[in-house]
Amino acid sequence: MSRPAMRQDIFTDDFKTAPYWWDEVPRPTLPEIALPERVDVAIVGSGYTGLHAALQTARGGRDTLVFDAEDAGWGCSTRNGGQISVSIKPGYDELVRRHGTERGHAILKEGHESLAFMGAFVAAEAIDCDFSVCGRFHAAHSPRQYELLGQRITSQPKGLETPAEMVPRAEQRRELGTDAYFGGAVYTRHAVINPGRYHQGLLERVTAAGARVAARTPVTGIERDGDGYRVTTARGRVRARDIVIATNGYTGAITPWLRRRVIPIGSYVIATEELPDGLMDRLMPRNRIVSDTRKVVYYYRPSPDRRRILFGGRVSFSETDPRVSGPKLHAELLRLFPELAGTRVSHSWCGFVAYTFDELMHAGRHDGMYYAMGYCGAGVGMASYLGMRLGQQVLGLAEGRTAFDDLPFPTRPFYSGNPWFLAPSVLYYRWRDSWA
Ligand SMILES: Cc1cc2nc3c(=O)[nH]c(=O)nc-3n(C[C@H](O)[C@H](O)[C@H](O)COP(=O)(O)OP(=O)(O)OC[C@H]3O[C@@H](n4cnc5c(N)ncnc54)[C@H](O)[C@@H]3O)c2cc1C
Repeated sequence: MSRPAMRQDIFTDDFKTAPYWWDEVPRPTLPEIALPERVDVAIVGSGYTGLHAALQTARGGRDTLVFDAEDAGWGCSTRNGGQISVSIKPGYDELVRRHGTERGHAILKEGHESLAFMGAFVAAEAIDCDFSVCGRFHAAHSPRQYELLGQRITSQPKGLETPAEMVPRAEQRRELGTDAYFGGAVYTRHAVINPGRYHQGLLERVTAAGARVAARTPVTGIERDGDGYRVTTARGRVRARDIVIATNGYTGAITPWLRRRVIPIGSYVIATEELPDGLMDRLMPRNRIVSDTRKVVYYYRPSPDRRRILFGGRVSFSETDPRVSGPKLHAELLRLFPELAGTRVSHSWCGFVAYTFDELMHAGRHDGMYYAMGYCGAGVGMASYLGMRLGQQVLGLAEGRTAFDDLPFPTRPFYSGNPWFLAPSVLYYRWRDSWA
C-alpha cells in the first residue's frame, strides 16, 4: 500500500502542541507552599505512581510531601492515550524461563490485578473520568500475526486466561472501518479512561487526605542523613524518613542507579478536529480502544465524546517538537482510514515513557529508597497499582508486597541514561514490522 505524502498544512487554525486532555483539565496552578523542615515521606514525581503512593501514606497517617519539577501531573500521566490492559509485555513462557514458574505466574497475575484495580479504584473513589470497560481490538498487521494471535488465545496459561475472541478479516469492519489489517482479536476486559480527569480526581483525593504537593520544585539531590534522607530542591531542603522515586521516563541525575536502568523513549499522540456526523460510527463503531501487532505499535481510540480520533505511536525516539511528529502520525492515520483525507489535526503532543532492558516494570528499594518505574509504555493501570503497593510498603503493610519486589533490574555496560542505541533499534523493528 503506498503512503500518502506527509503534509505540513494539516493543522487547524487553533492547533495546540499541548495534550487534548488539558483543554478540559488544564494543569493545576497549585499555590506555592512553604517547604516544611521535616516530613515522614517525600515523593519525587506527581504522576499516577507518586500520587497513588501518597494517597496510601497520607491516609495511613504519614506526613507526606510530593515534589514535581513542573506543574502537578505534567508528565506522562496527563499525556497518555488512556488505554488500560494487563500491561505485561513478556509472555508466560518467557517469564517462566527467566524467573521460574511461580514467579512468572505471579508477575502476570499482577498485570491482571492492576487492570481490576483500576475499575475498583475509580468506582470506590467516585472519580468521574469516563472509565469504561470498552474492550480492545488488537489488529493483526500481517496474516502470520493473525495466526499467532489465535495461538496465543487458545494456549493461555491456566488461571491467567483473558477473555478474547478472534475477528477474521472478512468481519473486521464490524470493529473498525478499515481493510488495512488482517483481522484481529477483541480483549473484552480492556478498558479506557480520560487520563486528565483521572489524574485530577486522584490529586483531589491526595490533597484531601492531607498530603502536600510542591509543584514547580525540582529535586536536585538526595543524601542519606542519619536514619532518613536530606532532600535538596531549588527552593530549599527537607528532611524525610522515607523516599519514593516516581519519575519514570523523566528519571534524572538525582538517582543515577535508576537512570542507568530505564530507557526514556518519546511517545506521540495527535487528536483530529471534530469529525462530521456519522463518520465515527463507520470508523470505530464499537467504541473500542485499538492497538496493532507491530513492534513499533500504533494505538488509538475515540475521544470520550466520540467527536475525534486520538491516534498515537512511536514515530520517533527522542523528537520533542509535536509539529514534526504530528504530520507523521497523520500520514499513518490516513493510510489506515483514507476516508479521513481532509481531516485536520487540532492537537499534537508527546511525552517520555520508560522502557527497560527486560521489558518489565520494576518496583522495590535501592539505597533504602522506594521506587516503581519502567512501565514500557503501558503504565496507566500498572503505575496506579504499583504506586498504591509502594505506599503500602512504606506503611509496612504485608499486602504491599508484589511479584516485582527485588527482581533483578538489569542495565547494560556503559549505559548511563542516554539511549544512543534507540535510533538503530527503532529502524530495525520498523523494518521487521514491514516484513512481518
Ligand atoms: C503519549 C503517551 C501515550 C501513552 N499512552 C498510554 C496508554 O494509552 N496506556 C497506558 O497504559 N500507558 C500509556 N502511556 C504511559 C503512561 O502514561 C505512563 O506509563 C504513566 O503515566 C507513568 O506514570 P508515572 O507517575 O510513573 O510517571 P509520570 O506521569 O511521567 O510522572 C513523572 C513525574 O516526575 C517528575 N520529575 C522527574 N524528575 C523530577 C525531579 N528531579 N524533581 C521533581 N519532579 C521530577 C516529572 O516532572 C513528572 O511529572 C503513554 C505515555 C505517553 C507519553
